[in-house]
Amino acid sequence: MKLKYYEIDEKKLLEAAKNGKKIAIKMPEGLQPYAAEIMKFLKRNGIDASFLADSCYGACDFKRIEGIDRIICIGEAEMPYLRKKYSPPVTFIEAFYHFNAEIVGKAIPFLEESRIGLVSITPFIHKINECKKYLEGKGYEVFIGRKSRRMKYNGQILGCDFTPAMEIAGNVDVFLFIGDGMFHPVALFIATKRPVVALNPIGGGVLRKEITDAAAKIVKQRYVAIAKAMDGKRVGIIMAEKIGQRRPRLVNELKKMAEKAGMEAYLIIADEIDDRLNYLDFDFYISTACPRVAIDDAAKFKKPVLTPIEFQIMINERQWEDYEFDQIV
Ligand code: SF4
Repeated sequence: MKLKYYEIDEKKLLEAAKNGKKIAIKMPEGLQPYAAEIMKFLKRNGIDASFLADSCYGACDFKRIEGIDRIICIGEAEMPYLRKKYSPPVTFIEAFYHFNAEIVGKAIPFLEESRIGLVSITPFIHKINECKKYLEGKGYEVFIGRKSRRMKYNGQILGCDFTPAMEIAGNVDVFLFIGDGMFHPVALFIATKRPVVALNPIGGGVLRKEITDAAAKIVKQRYVAIAKAMDGKRVGIIMAEKIGQRRPRLVNELKKMAEKAGMEAYLIIADEIDDRLNYLDFDFYISTACPRVAIDDAAKFKKPVLTPIEFQIMINERQWEDYEFDQIV
């Protein structure tokens, strides 16, 4: 089945749907406009599915749901370590964008260095080895790092987990990201402190300077957020309900650290973290949920929302020079 740029395997979808009586489908925003089309396809095959219109930011973004006995998540790759924790169980049907690996040639004018770390994301990852071969044929030394427990493929990165890139960062001069958008490559730059070239196989656009500039802007904004939080005495520590974002041990450590630093610290449990934070009587927040919330949604918040690492800098437990991108690994 073709959904805009992406292809999903109908056979796998039907097989998954036959594994339950009360099926619901769930998908990321980009595929949600096709929800009815997918349900119609299932109905034609004798399966009456419903659509979960909740957020779907990744395989992390699940919580307990009653009255459904299987969820089919279309467009995301599974997080293997959560396999037994999803309730109801979830089957992941990935969506792929099919492209010719030779499109990587468009990135060559931007790759002055000789040792390349190759990374990608779900819709494009199936071509990573072909892209590697193509670049090796052009004389580059190419590395693909190993996956963590939170990802399905070697070389795959998430917006919050750059394990395959961190593993090879010491051996490469530059990363080549194969995928769309700025969300992953900018964070990859901050996390690895290596230059990043991004090639979008949909259309063949290539970015390099734009990524460096966007990362520098974010780091500056984070510095301002930390400085603004400095006088705060009452902190809300946010823990997500979503199963792939919960970090209760970290929450406890942060609470102790804040209290030791003479602050009042309270736990906030939330599903979605939004501008409601502006109306609560806390001076600032630390988010242990999706690490992107504090950074990508910063403009929404009138009070500083820090990552755990930024909080350590704020209370002098870490030097600014040791700034790191918060990751859930
Ligand atoms: S925690 Fe955030 S960045 Fe990580 S997979 Fe989930 S939504 Fe994406």
